[in-house]
Amino acid sequence: MTKFNICVIPGDGIGPEVTASACEVLKAVGEKSGHEFVFSEVIAGGCAIDQFDDPLPSASLECAKNSDAVLLGAVGGPKWDGLPGKKRPEAALLGLRKELGLYANLRLAVLFPELKSASPLRDDIVKDGVDIMIVRELTGGIYFGERGIGPSEGTLEDGTPKGIEAFDVERYSEAEIERILKVGFTIAMQRRKRLIVVDKANILETSRLWRKVTEKIAPSYPEVSYEFMYVDNASMQLLRQASKMDVIVTSNMFGDILSDEAGMITGSIGMLPSASLGDPGKPGMYEPVHGSAPDIAGKGIANPLATILSSAMMLRSSLGLADEATKVENAVRSVLAQGYRTMDISLSSEDKILGTKEMTDKVIEAYLQD
Ligand code: NAD
Repeated sequence: MTKFNICVIPGDGIGPEVTASACEVLKAVGEKSGHEFVFSEVIAGGCAIDQFDDPLPSASLECAKNSDAVLLGAVGGPKWDGLPGKKRPEAALLGLRKELGLYANLRLAVLFPELKSASPLRDDIVKDGVDIMIVRELTGGIYFGERGIGPSEGTLEDGTPKGIEAFDVERYSEAEIERILKVGFTIAMQRRKRLIVVDKANILETSRLWRKVTEKIAPSYPEVSYEFMYVDNASMQLLRQASKMDVIVTSNMFGDILSDEAGMITGSIGMLPSASLGDPGKPGMYEPVHGSAPDIAGKGIANPLATILSSAMMLRSSLGLADEATKVENAVRSVLAQGYRTMDISLSSEDKILGTKEMTDKVIEAYLQD
């Protein structure tokens, strides 16, 4: 039996409802598998601003740092929208990513067969299902590069003065690229052993460095077949042959855009889990892709499945409990196959509509029967 310390950050809006669901599922996993999960709940986001005038109080950060893994709901809401940058709820997310050294963001876009008609893509394109893992570099590239804005002295070819000019620099080091590629190759090994490295190497020097580093480390993963794909082509292939894609690894900005596109293919934001990882042995952070959904907070109708699936990613990637992770994922599949839905994923009048708690109970029931 192993004891795992989980730092739980429910956050705002539906965050507390969906993290409570995932903790219930983890408790069931503990009871069945004989492992112990110890949950420490702390606050961050808007609720922490209200209480401490600080989106990420130091006690919350310490709890996260000292845990085996962090489970986060969502932060933010209209109440805090007018606050300046560092005082906004989202500052908690940036602080956690930075302090925990989370440089890899993993987003899983799975189109469950039962929810196929939620996809905006045609049936014949998604008939074989979709199961794509996007590994996005999270702490480098253009989002963190040098930037500036100011008057330009220059003119366009026809003599028009340029006026104000702004710039953002994309910069990647070999070490930054290598560590994220290793995450990509490792995950490819755990899945179908296929990896697509997405870049824009026909234009960008940083992309050419990504290719060089890929070729340097690929021999360490001889079972993985990899290919390079330009980002413009990747965005088209996601729409043309999503079922054939498996693991994609890419830079911060390309990953930001492609992961939203892949998520959209599944048609259900309430179903998308994510993980942010740093160096092996350090706590990873697991959270649903959706936000705090203030429009439905407190109504007991939020879909808990994205957070439950995030906890499955936690079992697999941070706690070394891959079998239990698969059983939780299978439980979600089984509940969907039985026709149970939360309101956001209901597509037919035959669906059996459940609230957050009832859906959680159904997943636990299916998990315990496996
Ligand atoms: P959102 O994801 O919260 O909601 C978009 C729509 O999807 C809403 O109609 C909502 O009701 C629905 N929805 C989302 N999750 C659902 C679920 N689990 N079950 C059922 N329906 C669900 O996005 P938004 O409205 O753009 O943002 C709301 C707030 O959340 C904002 O303050 C935003 O900044 C914040 N946000 C936080 C995170 C995060 O914490 N990681 C991510 C995105 C947005």
